[in-house]
Amino acid sequence: MSKLSDLHPLEFINYLRDQQINRFFFVYNPESKTVMASHEQLQPIAEFIQSDGRDFMQHEGLFFHVTKNYDTLQGAFVHRTCRGQGAGGVRYWQYPTMEDYLRDGLRLSKGMTRKNALAGLWWGGGKGVIAHNPEIEKSNPEIRASIYKEYGDLLTSIRGCYVTAEDVGTNVDDMANIFSSTRFTTCIPGHLGGSGNPSVPTARGVICGIEAALEFSDEGALAGKIVAVQGMGNVGGRLIHYLFEKKVARVIACDINPEIVEQLKIQLQNEDLEAKVVKSGDDSILAADCDILTPCATGAILNPRTIPEIKARIVCGAANNQLEDSERDDQLLHEDGILYVPDFLTNRMGIVNCANEQYGFITKDPFFEKHLSREWEHSIHQTILRVLKESRETGNPPAKVAIRMADELSSKHHPIFGQRGRQIIESLVADKWHERR
Ligand code: NAD
Repeated sequence: MSKLSDLHPLEFINYLRDQQINRFFFVYNPESKTVMASHEQLQPIAEFIQSDGRDFMQHEGLFFHVTKNYDTLQGAFVHRTCRGQGAGGVRYWQYPTMEDYLRDGLRLSKGMTRKNALAGLWWGGGKGVIAHNPEIEKSNPEIRASIYKEYGDLLTSIRGCYVTAEDVGTNVDDMANIFSSTRFTTCIPGHLGGSGNPSVPTARGVICGIEAALEFSDEGALAGKIVAVQGMGNVGGRLIHYLFEKKVARVIACDINPEIVEQLKIQLQNEDLEAKVVKSGDDSILAADCDILTPCATGAILNPRTIPEIKARIVCGAANNQLEDSERDDQLLHEDGILYVPDFLTNRMGIVNCANEQYGFITKDPFFEKHLSREWEHSIHQTILRVLKESRETGNPPAKVAIRMADELSSKHHPIFGQRGRQIIESLVADKWHERR
């Protein structure tokens, strides 16, 4: 591992200053099969990325700058653009090291390629990651406005090879700030012609996923089932409402935020909701006595420590990257007879909701609703049934099957703009993007 990747993002920013670097990139060359850095000094990071077998998967280009105000590292990770521009949300998060920062972007952008392809969207995969500078206040609206406007500048400068959206740590106001300096964003507020907060559609998609899994395993309807929900935020909270509309017998839920727990208890006081406040890192809800487990908080919660404790027969939730190790933990769940619905199959509605904003909106949009239908070949329901059937027939665990399907679909070229993202990236390199600003 290179030394630079061990630095905290703030230390890395200081290093960049010393080197008089403000913008930099890492770009994959498919002919030489190597990752090239914009600056010689950063080549050790390119080599670290290239040699990584876990999160790196021939990502087409990674572009970064340091903001002019508030010393914040901002990045756009473009994974694959065969089906169109790289699309996926931008995350605002704190990272202990550059390695953690880079790994998150690599992993999440690869995941977006798969999610978009399996959803039948004509988009490639990408992700934005902004490393929160712990010395600045996260919730200050003026600081946020400045940071997100500068993020828009980054996206404008990379000419649309990546189109952003809302993600963990960001909200529609942030998207409006990005929109003030670039057209390459979605999830902007309704009053500016966007689709707004995607969490409600995401929760609807998770309900579809659970119902598909129940149908596949001949377990009937949601009515009468006991469901455990980890995380009662934007998606989890809405999902709990939908579960009661589906007449589940009981919901066991938790969150680390006492206000959220209290709010939902009040809203659902007539329902059988057992909601508790837990400490961060307390994953005891995963061992709850229930039929269905629905992770809607953070990733990496399915691992060798938690899987043996799971009592649910079905795991299906919105949280991204639930498997700590996608191969090992997929296999472990499979061996334990737990039906795992890969997150990127069931949590697609956020990106579906915003991906095609430029095509306008229709009441009860048929383009949107078909994803939630039982019939359309790329609907959540049909895609999950296809994956679970192949899993049963081949003996391969579901995430492995879904990844195989996704990687095939994501290599198909957009009928008009296939690989345009790669072409844009090549033009940025040729025009010495990193020397401008
Ligand atoms: P959110 O931040 O609104 O909600 C997450 C909730 O989880 C928060 O209330 C937080 O306090 C809680 N939490 C964190 N750690 C916890 C823990 N250890 N135990 C219990 N609760 C914990 O985020 P969200 O928009 O609801 O998204 C939830 C998950 O779904 C995330 O992983 C996100 O990446 C994923 N996702 C969301 C969307 C969307 O449309 N919002 C789309 C796709 C995927």
